[in-house]
This record gives sequence, structure tokens and C-alpha cells, in this order.
Amino acid sequence: MSTAFSELVSKITEAQTLGSIGSLLSWDQETYMPAAAAGFRASQTSLIAAMAHERRTSARIGELLAACESDKALLADAAVAADVREMRRDYDLATKLPTDLVARLAKITSEAQEVWKEARAKSDFEHFRPTLQKVIDLTREKALCIGSPTGEPYDALLDEYEPGMTAARVEAIFTPLRARLSALVAQVCSSKHQLDASVLKKKVPVDQQQAFGLEVLKAMGFDLHAGRLDVTTHPFCSGMAPGDTRLTTRYTSESILEPLYGTMHEGGHGLYEQGLPKSDRYGRPSAEAVSLGMHESQSRLWENFVGRSRAFWTWALPTAKRCCPPHFDAVTLDQVYAAANVVQRSFIRVEADEATYNLHIMLRFGLERAIMNGDLALKDLPGEWNKQFKSLLGVDVPDDRRGCLQDVHWSFGLIGYFPTYTLGNLYAAQFWEAAQRAMPDMLSKMERGDLSGLLNWLRSNIHAHGRRYRAEELCQRVTGQPLSADPLMRHLEGKLKPLYKI
Ligand code: ZN
Repeated sequence: MSTAFSELVSKITEAQTLGSIGSLLSWDQETYMPAAAAGFRASQTSLIAAMAHERRTSARIGELLAACESDKALLADAAVAADVREMRRDYDLATKLPTDLVARLAKITSEAQEVWKEARAKSDFEHFRPTLQKVIDLTREKALCIGSPTGEPYDALLDEYEPGMTAARVEAIFTPLRARLSALVAQVCSSKHQLDASVLKKKVPVDQQQAFGLEVLKAMGFDLHAGRLDVTTHPFCSGMAPGDTRLTTRYTSESILEPLYGTMHEGGHGLYEQGLPKSDRYGRPSAEAVSLGMHESQSRLWENFVGRSRAFWTWALPTAKRCCPPHFDAVTLDQVYAAANVVQRSFIRVEADEATYNLHIMLRFGLERAIMNGDLALKDLPGEWNKQFKSLLGVDVPDDRRGCLQDVHWSFGLIGYFPTYTLGNLYAAQFWEAAQRAMPDMLSKMERGDLSGLLNWLRSNIHAHGRRYRAEELCQRVTGQPLSADPLMRHLEGKLKPLYKI
């Protein structure tokens, strides 16, 4: 291995190590930090972040990258060439933005989060509009600094979360999905046969829910020797370091389903983090996740495709009966399978079911793209939101709180982020089909609580590669097909039509 490449890896490893310390501080802040420590914690995290940024953007990294890029012998190794390509991408992204733009964005987005909270509480978009306008203007400036081959500012933003993806490509994938999905949702919601979610709405004590959640996590293959599960208001997963993947979940007293699916979702993210080859490649992109969409595919695969399947519940229902006595003693497999697959039109994205969820995303994608391109003025956003919501989901939005003010993303300047959720669902569906083709007995093993087949398949086909391939390329390699809406629609129609007797 060339000395330039070794030095490059060690410099980047140093920056990553600082980043991992920052993640540990944030995790602590969300879980166990005493409230009075908040002020000093802000100084700790901003110092660590500045140190990591300084190392990531050092001129020495630029020199070493240039040396590696002109070393033909080094680049003959395809895995190293992919590492160098991704390191260049990271370096360019980190160095392209002027420091004062980064500082102005940080300031306005921290203000915007407070204003957004007030506006949402009052359900008053006009209160948020002037601040959001500033966030949008600066985010557009950021997009212009980054630039994109297509010239569309939205693409520069999307590419940060989903490398290689463009708005035009997303639209091409979303268009057939939108029509088929809204037709399916209309059929399901107007069916005379509706599903009953009440069998799982029981007040189960938190310690029982926790015991059940841990059994499920263990069955999924999450290594608790190299990870933890704690409780926070907003569940998350932090794959902060080799051997250290932290998950959080939250418990409610109304139902075991939301906490269970929260745990399985973060568990899916956690399995990806644990499966990346960090122990021998930490610091190299080949030990990192491909994209947000690919990360989301892993969480949704376990949450929705495994967690709402009949095969999973064949094992999980007796497990729930054992962990949570006597709450599920009288519940049958048919009842729990139906309750896990209820479809309902709702206003709030984060409460949406597997089928309607993607319609919420498509709405946001179209609107934020139009705002970025200057085709939609913020003053018209609530009206446009409500009109499109009605045409996609067939119901009238009662107020901005349950409409365009519900998500925190735009106040953070996270534009181009939403599509990655649906891309994740689409990748998950495609992987789910491919895994079953490769292992025809996968579901029958799942019925007995053996979920190892799917995990091993994901380990060797997805996790092992890190960022070697871009998401769509990886999908093509693994499934033999380009990304498409068909597998997700086959999955939803195949499951919901019999359940709803359509
Ligand atoms: Zn997620």
C-alpha cells in the first residue's frame, strides 16, 4: 500500500475518531446527561466538531488525495480506488462551503427550530414563513456552492444524502408508485372489511415491553455485547465506533406495536452499523454506510417486511405471551397479523402506516423541489400542501399543525432528505424479494424464530461492501434489477388485498 494512501487513511481516521467522540457526547446528552450540564456540553460538542472539521478539511488531505489519484498502481486495486473516490467526494463537500455560509446556516437553523416550534404550537404558518424563507435562501446558496452536473439546485442537496441520485431520477421512480399507491389506498380504505387494531392496544408494563423488545432484537441478531438499547423521546441509532452501536426506543402505555416497531426499526439500522467492516477498515469509506436511503432500507426491512409478516408473528406472538403475561393470552395469530397491518389515512407522516407513508413523502418531495427551483413561493405553501394532500390521500387537512408545519426537517435546512425514506422502502422491497429467491426456506425458518438467514444475506450482499458501490449500483448487483416501484407494490398488494378482502 502506498505511503500517501496510508497517511491519508490515518489522517481521516483521526477526524473520524474525533467525530465518534462527538457522537458519544450527543448520545449521552439524549440519554443520561443531567439537565444542568447542557450549557457546558454545548461547548464540548462544538469544540470537538470544530477539531474534526479542521482535520477533515486540512490542506494535507488535499495533497495526499492528489498523490493517490495519480498513482496508477494504487488505483489498480478496485477497492482502494473506490475508497479514494469516496474520500475525494467527502473532501470536496467539506471544503466547498465557505466558513461564513456554514456559520450563517448554523445560526439561522438554530433560530428556525425555535420559531418552528412556536408556529406549530399555534398552528400558524405565517409565523414561521419569514424565518423559513431565510433558511431556504441560505440552503439555495449552499446548493449553488456545491453545484451539480444537472444544474438543478435540488440535486446538489439530494446528492449529499443519496450520492448519485437526482430529482429527475426520483421523479421517474415515484411517478408510477404515486398512481398505484393512491389507487391501492383508496381501495383499502373504502373496503367494507376493515381491520381491528384494538387487540394490541393494551396497557402493558414497560419492563414487560422491554423484555419482549430485547427478545426480538436478539432474534434479529443484534449484538448486545457490541451495543446497547436505551430510552429516549425520539428513538435513534448511533453507530458511533467499532464495537459500539447504540440504539434507543420509547415505550407507550397504549400499545406494544409502536415501541416494538421503533425498536425493530432502530435495530435494523444497528445491524447495518454492526455489519460494516469497521474493525479492520475504520477510517476508510469501505467501512461506512452507502447512503441514507440504503440505511433506511435496512431499518424498514426489519420493521415492515419482517415485523409485519405472518411468519414473524408465528414466532413473536408466543414470545409476547411469554414476556407480557397475561395481556396476549387470548390473542390469535390472525388477530395480531391484521392489527399489525392496519391501513388508515392520517395527517401525520410519522404516524402513517406502511402503505400511506410513501404518499406523505412524495408530497414533500414535489413541494420542496418546487420551492428550491423557485416554482413555488412560501406564501402559497400551505394551500398547495392541502390541495395535493387531498388529491393523494383524499382528505382535507384541518390546520397547518397537521399540514405543512408537522416536520422538523425544513427548519434544520434538511432539504432533499425526505426522498431517502421512500427510496429506503423501495430498496427494502427489492432486497426482500431477492433474499427470498436466494433462500426459499427463509420464511419457514422465520416462523421458528430463526431470522439468521436474512441477516447473513444482508451481511454478505450489503453490509460487507461499505461505500464501495453507490446505492443504485449495489441494488442492481444484488438483485439483478434496477431500482423500481414494482417490488414494493407487489409486496403491499400481495399482503393488503387478501387482508382487506379486495
Ligand atoms: Zn430510520
